[in-house]
Parts: sequence; C-alpha cells; structure tokens
Amino acid sequence: MSRKILIVEDEAPIREMLSFVMEQHGYQAMEAGDFHSALDKIVEPFPDMILLDWMLPGGSGIQLAKQLKSDDFTRNIPIIMLTARGEEEDKIKGLEVGADDYITKPFSPKELMARMRAVFRRVVPTSLDEPLELEGLKLDPVSHRVSCNGASIDMGPTEFRLLHFFMTHPERVYSREQLLDHVWGTNVYVEDRTVDVHIRRLRKAIAEHGHDRYVQTVRGVGYRFSSR
Ligand code: CA
Repeated sequence: MSRKILIVEDEAPIREMLSFVMEQHGYQAMEAGDFHSALDKIVEPFPDMILLDWMLPGGSGIQLAKQLKSDDFTRNIPIIMLTARGEEEDKIKGLEVGADDYITKPFSPKELMARMRAVFRRVVPTSLDEPLELEGLKLDPVSHRVSCNGASIDMGPTEFRLLHFFMTHPERVYSREQLLDHVWGTNVYVEDRTVDVHIRRLRKAIAEHGHDRYVQTVRGVGYRFSSR
C-alpha cells in the first residue's frame, strides 16, 4: 500500500501542486486547508507523513506540530514544516516542537522528495498499535490494557504511557527530563520529581509478579527498563 501524505497548506495552488507531486511519486495525497480540517484528518489510520505549512487559518503550523508531538498516538508521525520565512529562529522553533525537518519555500519537488526520503529513512518503523509483551507482562495499546499472566492490571494513564514508553525503549537509561519530554510531552512544565512519583506508582502496579524489578533506578542518571 502506498504511503499516505497529509498536505496542510492554505494556499490552494501550492496545495494542489504538492498533491500532484505526491501522486506522481507514488504517494497517496490528502489535503487540508486550515488548522481544524487538518486535525480532522489526523485520525486512524494515521497519515505516514505530514507536510505542514507555517501560517494557517485557525492556528499555526507550529501549534499543530506541538500538539501532535505531545500526543502518544500521533507523536511518531513525521512532520516536515513548509516555511516561507528564512529566519533561523523560526526553523529552530519548528525543530524544537518536534518537527522532523523543514523546507523553505520556494522549493523544487526534487528537493522536497529528497527531504521526505531522508526523514522516512530516519524514522524508526514502530507501530504504536503493536501489543507488547515481556515475560508475562502484556500491554495492548489499542485496548489500553495491561495484564500480567492473563490478569488485568489497573493503572493510571500516565503510568500506562510510562510503561508503553519503557517497553518500546528498553535497555536504555533515560534522565527524568528525557522521560518528561517523551511521556509528558515537551513544553509541559512539571517538576522532575513528578517522574519519581509516577515511577513509584508504576512499580507498585506491576509488582505482583515481580515485574517492578524491570523499572530500574540508575543512580545519579535516571531510569532504565530492563529485564536483566
Ligand atoms: Ca500559509
């Protein structure tokens, strides 16, 4: 099946041109002309990439990128910002909110294709819907359920997101700040020790069959999820 590209651009001629270029290169194009119709189109099955204009009626592209990148379900959708401005500060702002790349207008279709291919290569093809399992501990992102050896486990939404993040990123140490960025979203201002609180709750929730030992404290650094 061909990859689906959502084009968010309010200038119809540019949008139609991009749409044409996408189809020409074997992609399936979807179009949105403003902030809210873009949001309406970002539903499952999610687009494989979003080409996102900077200035949109109803809200900015930056705002949309920020929103998508701080949501568990949409954060893995690659975003390329289309910007008319050449200013360095704007580019940095785009990358800061999590856009995967940007391209300055006017650009050639060839240039855009090269950027898109580079971003696709960089993005790890993980499916957010895939059920995860580790030694009896199961997490199903679709039904939002966690179970252990068949018995369902209750936990809060933050603990669920934490566990999902850990299970998809095992054997690596994350600082509290990194966990905040990944699990709570960037630009969310909560204190570092909030992480500790939710780590404690998560450990408690999965402790019955000893899975709490996977959530390991790495002194002076942060936390790691490991079965070793
Ligand atoms: Ca615009």
